[in-house]
Amino acid sequence: MRRSPLGATWSILAPERSRRPQGPAIVSADSLICPFCEGNESETEPEVFALRLANTESNGRGWSVRVVRNKYPALRPNANALSDKRSAVFEHAAPHGFHEVIIESTDHHATFARLPLRQLETILGVYQSRMQSICAEPNIRSAALFRNEGPAAGASQAHPHAQLIALPVIPERLTRELAGAERHFDSRGCCSTCELLEREAASGRLVAENGEFAAVTAFAPRFPFETWIIPKAHCHDFRVLDPTKLRGMAQLFAQVFGALESALGAFPFNLVLQNAPVDVTDSGERAFHWRVEILPRLTTPSGFELGWDVFIVALSPEDAAAILRGGGVSKTASVPRCDDSDV
Ligand SMILES: [Zn+2]
Ligand SMILES: [Zn+2]
Repeated sequence: MRRSPLGATWSILAPERSRRPQGPAIVSADSLICPFCEGNESETEPEVFALRLANTESNGRGWSVRVVRNKYPALRPNANALSDKRSAVFEHAAPHGFHEVIIESTDHHATFARLPLRQLETILGVYQSRMQSICAEPNIRSAALFRNEGPAAGASQAHPHAQLIALPVIPERLTRELAGAERHFDSRGCCSTCELLEREAASGRLVAENGEFAAVTAFAPRFPFETWIIPKAHCHDFRVLDPTKLRGMAQLFAQVFGALESALGAFPFNLVLQNAPVDVTDSGERAFHWRVEILPRLTTPSGFELGWDVFIVALSPEDAAAILRGGGVSKTASVPRCDDSDV
């Protein structure tokens, strides 16, 4: 693992990733063997966790959610991981970590909009328990739970699945957000996300809410229809969310993905859990508030976005929220598609 001496971003050098199935041909060719479909369990690495019917055997049929190590991992556990190495310019970290695949359903064509609510709740429960297990491993400092759907979002398998990568470092972006949240807390005496939630109700960006969660379109989006799902009660880490609240979270997932599918049809997206680092300080715990980001990939980031981290978005989040609520939008609003990205 290397940290850029100039940009502070981390890179994981993982040559074996080049052997994984590539791109749209695999995703659309349902005639090929899907390693994540029931009956093809031998095509994956052995399972590390599964919810199964009684009297069924590991790595066989009879599961509802199945977790395996990634066959082409970005990182592997390394018991001999050395601490960071620094020189005047270059910073390295020993490659160490975990890369798991959470296979979310036996239904190859399931989407979050169409899964039964109970299965969605079960999936979120598995996300939480895998986060808890993987973050308890030695020398893990942060964990990324994410989901890629569709080739435009980087998926190489069409079957519904999420991924979990645990890292021995804290990525720069999370470090920056945590520091910003702590500064906000120090100056205003409250968490920035809690304060944002209070104001979103009247902002026109509220998409849906229930007693425990709110869904809002992002104030400063990177992609059209970028939507965040946020717990209403302050909580820094999804791992410590009261499991009784998973039902409310699943309800909001179903509602938001249903609205997105109604507006966009089948759409490529990334889903990202923004969570506090593993051993966050007390002040970080007060200031950081976890959320789930849904990033529809209707446009492709261009040189401007990649080089400057400034995003051009053709649809306002207020109009996007109105579309997702099923209401009217301003006359200028139109749904951008991929070919709008080339400025
Ligand atoms: Zn499948
Ligand atoms: Zn908060």
